[in-house]
Amino acid sequence: MAKDAGKTAEKTNANGVPLFKSDLTALDVKLDNEIVYEFGGPLGVCAMMLGFPALMYYFWVSLEYHQGKLIYPDSFTLDGVKDFVLNELWAKVKEGAYPSLTAVKIYMGYVLFSFILAYIMPGPVVEGLAIPSMKGKKLKYLCNGLSAWYLTLIVSAVLHVTHIFRLTEIIDNFGGIMTVAIMWGFTMTTLVYICSMINGTQHRMSGNFFYDYFMGAVLNPRIGHVDLKMWAEIRVPWPVLFYISLSCLLKQYETRGYVTAPACFMVLAHFLYVNACQKGEECIPTSWDMFYEKDGFMLIFWNMAGVPFTYCYASVYMMKYELTTGTAITHSLPYTIFLYVLLLTGYYVFDTGNSQKNRFRMEQNGSFITRNAFPQLPWGHIKNPTYIRTEHGNLLLTSGWWGIARKPHYTADLMMAISWGLITGFGSFLPYFYFCFFICVLTHRVSRDMERCAKKYGKDWERYCERVPYIFVPYVF
Ligand code: NDP
Repeated sequence: MAKDAGKTAEKTNANGVPLFKSDLTALDVKLDNEIVYEFGGPLGVCAMMLGFPALMYYFWVSLEYHQGKLIYPDSFTLDGVKDFVLNELWAKVKEGAYPSLTAVKIYMGYVLFSFILAYIMPGPVVEGLAIPSMKGKKLKYLCNGLSAWYLTLIVSAVLHVTHIFRLTEIIDNFGGIMTVAIMWGFTMTTLVYICSMINGTQHRMSGNFFYDYFMGAVLNPRIGHVDLKMWAEIRVPWPVLFYISLSCLLKQYETRGYVTAPACFMVLAHFLYVNACQKGEECIPTSWDMFYEKDGFMLIFWNMAGVPFTYCYASVYMMKYELTTGTAITHSLPYTIFLYVLLLTGYYVFDTGNSQKNRFRMEQNGSFITRNAFPQLPWGHIKNPTYIRTEHGNLLLTSGWWGIARKPHYTADLMMAISWGLITGFGSFLPYFYFCFFICVLTHRVSRDMERCAKKYGKDWERYCERVPYIFVPYVF
């Protein structure tokens, strides 16, 4: 397809992609300052801040004590509900999710270790996009996620093999570690909020304390050269999730002397996800989360506690099921192969889809670099891409997966998410929680993003939507 007609850009990179004409426009500044109440405003975010931890504990009790069956009061009278909350939920949380010293050491030890690695490990330095609230300044990001990830794998293997720290201790202390993570989520949010107030770095404040606490006050909090938002987004949630699944697999091996295909499936699924985040870390500085979202409860809590301790239900459910029934969850060969194919196909589109757009965006930003991080999949970088040139100056990619759908990477992510549930069979809703929750997250993100892009690109966005009419799946939706 011919490139979209328009004015010829003055400078292009070696791949023929024009560089951003100017780093910032007046519209960028306007959109960056615009305050829109989302998530139901102050009331909605308060409900979420109380509801998320409560839901995590409710699910944990169901998983830990009831084989993943969702529990409810015997009677829905005031006394019945009170009895349920105090004796069924609270008593169990006190008993099994107490933040013991061991739990603190495991979780905070990892958090500290990962922060130190983020500080000291080698990696390329990549520039982010021009930040409107910093008068167009481009922040630099040390992308050492990959070297830190490989070192973490080596250190954890050594600790496990030498019995200094058995990785099975993670699942043995699951409830307590989750409580520490929840407490840390609130603590870090509060610290970041207070520091931004003291430093005067708050931005786009609504004036409502609860809403600002939830959305965050500061855009790019840093300790030295470590960007706390980027660190929290990829260095804590995904590795912790991976180690929870690995811990379940090792527990299975220790108790049964073998491992099953579904347990290996979850370790592979979580390995692929965490590895993708680390190997493509240099693509993150130009993403929406980095240049627009502030660092508040929504990102911090969800990354520190929500992601690792709710996305792991498939692994934990299968392990608990096996421990309580004495039978491991297994499936027929065709079903198992189907799910492996679904996972790997989803992963391929997810990896290359994100890579295609982010590399294209980095090419415009002049920050494109090539890395040999494993695995580099075919079609991850589009040669001579086609695009729509917008009046704003940015280009909208229309080749690769991006010529087929507007959110191909979301569809791929959802394919992986459903495979995480299906591998457990149909005995519990909890392994499907991630998929259901993720549909809500992604549809909300799509509507937020489409609205923002429509404002930002105006008629050009309409042209783009005509050129790429489907959002998730061609000819379906
Ligand atoms: P996107 O990757 O969808 O980025 C949206 C931005 O990309 C837009 O605002 C626009 O930015 C730019 N853009 C959109 N279309 C084009 C195009 N055709 N060409 C060039 N630029 C375009 O955002 P997300 O951060 O939501 O998703 C990234 C990945 O993270 C996805 O794979 C998603 O599934 C995953 N994710 C996972 C979560 C989890 O919990 N597992 C949670 C959230 C995301 P601009 O204004 O600069 O043009």
